[in-house]
Amino acid sequence: MLAAMPRPSATPHNQGETPIGDAPGAAPRDPVVRDRGDACPGALRLHQADDGNLARLRLPGGILTIRQVHALATAAERYADGHLTLTSRGNAELRGIAAPHATALAELLRLTGLMPSETHERVRNIVASPLAGLDGRGHDGAHATARLRALDALLCAQDWTTALSGRFLFALDDGRGDVAGLGADVTLLAQERETVVVRVGASALRVAASDAPRAALEAARAFLEAAAGTGAWRVRDLPPDHAVDLASALARAGIPATPAPVPNGQQTTPAPPPGIVASPDGTYALVVAPALGRVSAARLRALPGPGGEVRITPWRGFVVPGFDGPGARARLRELDDAGFTTRPDAPWAGVGACTGRPGCAKALADVRRDALPGTGGLPVHWSGCERRCGHPHGDWVDVTATAEGHYTVTVRGVRGVPDAPDAQEQQLPLGEGELADAVARARGGRAQAYGTGTGTTTR
Ligand code: SF4
Repeated sequence: MLAAMPRPSATPHNQGETPIGDAPGAAPRDPVVRDRGDACPGALRLHQADDGNLARLRLPGGILTIRQVHALATAAERYADGHLTLTSRGNAELRGIAAPHATALAELLRLTGLMPSETHERVRNIVASPLAGLDGRGHDGAHATARLRALDALLCAQDWTTALSGRFLFALDDGRGDVAGLGADVTLLAQERETVVVRVGASALRVAASDAPRAALEAARAFLEAAAGTGAWRVRDLPPDHAVDLASALARAGIPATPAPVPNGQQTTPAPPPGIVASPDGTYALVVAPALGRVSAARLRALPGPGGEVRITPWRGFVVPGFDGPGARARLRELDDAGFTTRPDAPWAGVGACTGRPGCAKALADVRRDALPGTGGLPVHWSGCERRCGHPHGDWVDVTATAEGHYTVTVRGVRGVPDAPDAQEQQLPLGEGELADAVARARGGRAQAYGTGTGTTTR
């Protein structure tokens, strides 16, 4: 029997996330043939998890008004377990919902604009650069939010879009290269001179920025055409002879397009680190994160600032804009006191975990209890099984529970491994006693040195 590792004293637990990708490092997938629709939960289609019903709320771009922030806090307190869980798509989940509360929850979401369409609520999967328009980077920050709203409106206005699965993802990157690497099915990557590259699968075309939302919609329609009869939920599920014909789709819609190099699909700009971000207009935004992406209703209510909105990031954090300098520093201190991660070297910065036990029936361990704080370096994600739900993209450290009662620690991604884009994978089952050390060394990027550490699950 292996000894238990020391536990962090105040680790929140039972957080839920969406599986967003294949097991890292897996060989290219065979085409997927399915004979059923996807079972992705939504605001109306609750998922029966082991800790009660779960609602997943699609929040395009993660953008919330202050009223909506307070509505989510109220929903968490009245109808769920008092917490909001952030996902790797900038969405949110409520857990532990008693069945009789489902109707009242839906009504609250409707009244506050959090569910503008009952029929389309599960297809509003749109991630966007969370600092767009706030820090002077990117190509067209001023228009990024308008583009997001336009795509959301188009998605909700068409009957056929309900045929998209609840997993189909759009990414709107303002040109900085942060969300373009998150594995979306359709990516809009803003360019100079008011153009946008539309990428779907191995195709990329340049369109006028004003046509970009419609081009994204047509790319999704072309995916559905290519997917007919295959059961594919996502572009990567398509058989090789069912490629998406983006050029024909845009031509049919009357959208002028020219060839563009296919972006490499890597995240070229990392997640914004916790702290204060200066804007060219003289205001400041805060970047903060709750430990392991789970926030209480009370802490949620403490977030809003004078900017009138809060943005959830795909890295399970928040961006809060609109402060002056002293106000930003003061609020950052308050949020630090309230338990948010507010600086890059904070113990929980870059540490994530899936739901694990007891919320997930597939879990082999209570990963949220076992997860350890760190001292920076590569992002680390603790998973209760090999599905690795919600794992990061790019370079990251994978800590996964095994059926034998161990964790494996693996460096994933491309760092330091030329010509091997999915390499740097050494899974070494760990023994007893040195898990924290192994994880720390892996986060430091010393991939060849991490395997000597040891650890165990705590079942
Ligand atoms: S235990 Fe497995 S299936 Fe459950 S949330 Fe974690 S990674 Fe996903």
